[in-house]
Amino acid sequence: MAEEIITSVPFVYCLKYAKKRIFCDFCFKKIIRACHCPVCGTMHYCNTTCEKNDTIHRFECDHFLKASGDYNLKKYLEDDVLRLFLRTLIKTNNVSQNRNFYQSMAKKYENEIRMLMGTEFMSSINLDLMVPNFDKMMANKIEIKNEKEAIGFGIYLQNSFDSLENASNNFDGIRIIYKRSLFPALRFSESATNDSHIKIAIRIANRYLESRNVRNFYQEKIKVKSEVLKQKISEVKIVYEEQQKDFLAWTDRHVDNRIYINRKLEKRLEAISYLKDISSQKEKEIITVFIGFLLIHEFANLLYRWNGNLHSTENKDVGYKLENFIFDGNIRVIISTKSKWNEDSRYLGIGIRDTSQSRKIQFLSYDYIKEIFTDNLPFGSYFSPKFEVKEFGDDVFALRESDEFETNSDIEENLDDIFDDYEDAYNIQTCGT
Ligand SMILES: [Zn+2]
Ligand SMILES: [Zn+2]
Repeated sequence: MAEEIITSVPFVYCLKYAKKRIFCDFCFKKIIRACHCPVCGTMHYCNTTCEKNDTIHRFECDHFLKASGDYNLKKYLEDDVLRLFLRTLIKTNNVSQNRNFYQSMAKKYENEIRMLMGTEFMSSINLDLMVPNFDKMMANKIEIKNEKEAIGFGIYLQNSFDSLENASNNFDGIRIIYKRSLFPALRFSESATNDSHIKIAIRIANRYLESRNVRNFYQEKIKVKSEVLKQKISEVKIVYEEQQKDFLAWTDRHVDNRIYINRKLEKRLEAISYLKDISSQKEKEIITVFIGFLLIHEFANLLYRWNGNLHSTENKDVGYKLENFIFDGNIRVIISTKSKWNEDSRYLGIGIRDTSQSRKIQFLSYDYIKEIFTDNLPFGSYFSPKFEVKEFGDDVFALRESDEFETNSDIEENLDDIFDDYEDAYNIQTCGT
């Protein structure tokens, strides 16, 4: 199974005292030929580059030199937590005169660090932050390991690792490497249909669905067993169906493992299949790609349904969420028609309705559609759709998803509020009317 790998370097870290001379104090790699800090001799590196790069040690060096020759102070150098805390202080080096609420451990270490580092250093420390800093350090420090052996502590700020379920980690020196298993790649089966256009649409939908992006999207949204989903999606059948009032719009999925595509799309494909002109070829590609996008939308809804979200409002808009995630807006088809939408309407392109404040419709560029259709798009470009400018004429319509909203008056009213302005501006028709 493919894995997503996240790496992070720590905010601060320090080698365990017991591991000194064996591992490099800077990079935590095993030392082959030792090289120590020429001033204090307390730090040991694998080479002079690591020595030079250990900039945080410059703040410690003189003090560590002094401590290493002082019987009373020397033991502080052996306290790993103290040295990690000291490095947190050096790193966050804030100044404040207020000493009111540090206590317990932080108080203890304040005194010890003062003895080790001198009052001058302590005067540059924000003592207000000592307790919270100490807390954070204790809560977030993790053991850095070489193979199975713990060799140091680190505090890593870059990622919220606790949100990574099923993550495993290991270290490369001080660098932590998390591997997370991805949501499985789910795909519609080739045998879901006998129709040649839908077969192409399935291939298009599968390109998106198998991508790392979409799988990450589901990782965050859905928590169901992957074996069940793989089985279920492979059983889905995709068929054309006559439009029914209040039910089938572009597509529907009122049976558990079936996706219905509006038969008007099939009829239009049939009507133009005899025409050999370029614009008919273009239209065929647009409709096919559009069906592919509809399958992506329905895939999201099916997953939600299988996950037991049958009647939730979430079930209703998870398809839009996925469209939004992929295209940064919702899919509309743009048609030219003298009358209402029917199988004679010409399909001019695919529009993306921006869901941000502007509520504009942008046309997906035909180049993008063509490359998806011919399977010539590099994998990374699927999620960078290209757009082009087109004029909306008098008989050009951007068709809205469906009239299934009419079955729910609350949602209908709500949507009407949202859509009113821009429907006027863009000749939006509800399909199926
Ligand atoms: Zn090193
Ligand atoms: Zn030194």
